[in-house]
Amino acid sequence: MGRALNIFYNSLGTPEMYAIMAERLRSGMRLVTLETDDDAERAARIADCEVAIVAATPLTERIIGAARRLELVHHQGVGYHDTVDTAALARRGTRLALTPQGTTVGVAEHTLLLALAAARRAAFADAELRAGRWHINALRPVSVELFGKTVGFIGFGRIGQEAAKRFAAFGTTNVYADPGVDHHAGLPAEARSFDWIIANADFISLHLPLTGATRSLVSREVIGQMKPDAILINTARGGIVDDLALADALASGRLLAAGLDVFQSEPLPKEHPLCGLPNVVLTPHISAGTRDALGHKMEALFANLDRYRRGEAILNEVDLAAVAV
Ligand code: NAD
Repeated sequence: MGRALNIFYNSLGTPEMYAIMAERLRSGMRLVTLETDDDAERAARIADCEVAIVAATPLTERIIGAARRLELVHHQGVGYHDTVDTAALARRGTRLALTPQGTTVGVAEHTLLLALAAARRAAFADAELRAGRWHINALRPVSVELFGKTVGFIGFGRIGQEAAKRFAAFGTTNVYADPGVDHHAGLPAEARSFDWIIANADFISLHLPLTGATRSLVSREVIGQMKPDAILINTARGGIVDDLALADALASGRLLAAGLDVFQSEPLPKEHPLCGLPNVVLTPHISAGTRDALGHKMEALFANLDRYRRGEAILNEVDLAAVAV
C-alpha cells in the first residue's frame, strides 16, 4: 500500500466543484482547498501537501517556496506554460504532470460556439432584444454562415484537430499551420503557412500555447493582414493576441467579428474597448469549464495520482529538463 497523499487545490473553487472532485478521490487521498483567494492562505495550506493541483490560478515561485513537502504538481488541464513556474519546480526536483483528458472536447465545442455566435452576432442580438430592439433585418448584411468558408487553425494539436472535425460537419475547408504536426492523410485539414492562413482564411482559430515565441504573435501588423471579412476565434491564451489592436480593427470594420474566451488581462475589465463592440462575443475563460470536463479531468487526475502513490509510472509527465529555463 502506498503513502497517504495530501493534495492541495491551488484555485478557489465552489462547494459544488469540490463535491465533484471529492466524489472521485481515491482511498488514501485528502483534498486541501482554499476558503479565500489569498496567497497567505495558499502558502499556509500548501505547506504540508505532497501534491498540488493547478488550474487557472498560477502556481508562483512564492507558493512553491512555501510548499515544504511538494513532490508533484498536477495541472488540471494542459496550459501549464503560463500557469506553472517550471524553472522553480525544476530547481527543487518537483515533477509536473498534465491532464489532457476532459479538456479537448469542451474547448473544441466552445470554439464552434464562438464561431457561430460571432458569425451571427448572437450576443449583441440577444442583448438588444432584451432591451426592446428587434433587429430582424439590421444584422443581415453582416451575418455569415460557416458553410463554404475556409477555416485556418494556428496550432493543430489535440484541440485544433477536434475543432476541425466539428467545423467540417458545417461544410468548411480546413487548413492549419503547426510546425510540430507532420502532415498525414488522416488529418482533418491541409497544411499551409502561417502567412497564408492570416491572408486567406475566413475564420482564424488559435489553438497554440502561450510561450515566449507565441506572445503577441497576432500583433497589430498581423491583424492588418487579415481579410476584412475575417473572423478571429481565440480559445487558446489571451497573450497571443494584441487585444487593443483587435478592438481597433473590429471597431473600424477592418475585421468582421471575433469570438474570444481568453484575454491579455483577466478578468477583462468592463471598460475595455472590446466590451463596447457589437461584433465580438466574449466569454470568461470557460471553454473547458463544463461539469462533464471537470468530472473527466478529476477521474483521470486522481487515477494518475493513485499510480504515483503506488510507486508506478505516471502518465503525461512534462520533461522539465527540456522546458525549464
Ligand atoms: P497541444 O499541445 O495538443 O497542441 C498545441 C499545438 O500548438 C502543438 O501541436 C504545437 O506544435 C503547436 N504550436 C506551438 N507553437 C506554435 C506556433 N508558433 N505556431 C503554430 N503552432 C504552434 O495542446 P491542446 O490540448 O490542443 O491545447 C492548445 C492550447 O489551448 C493550450 O496550450 C492552452 O493554452 C489552450 N487551452 C485553453 C483552454 C481554455 O479554457 N480556454 C483550455 C485548455 C487549453
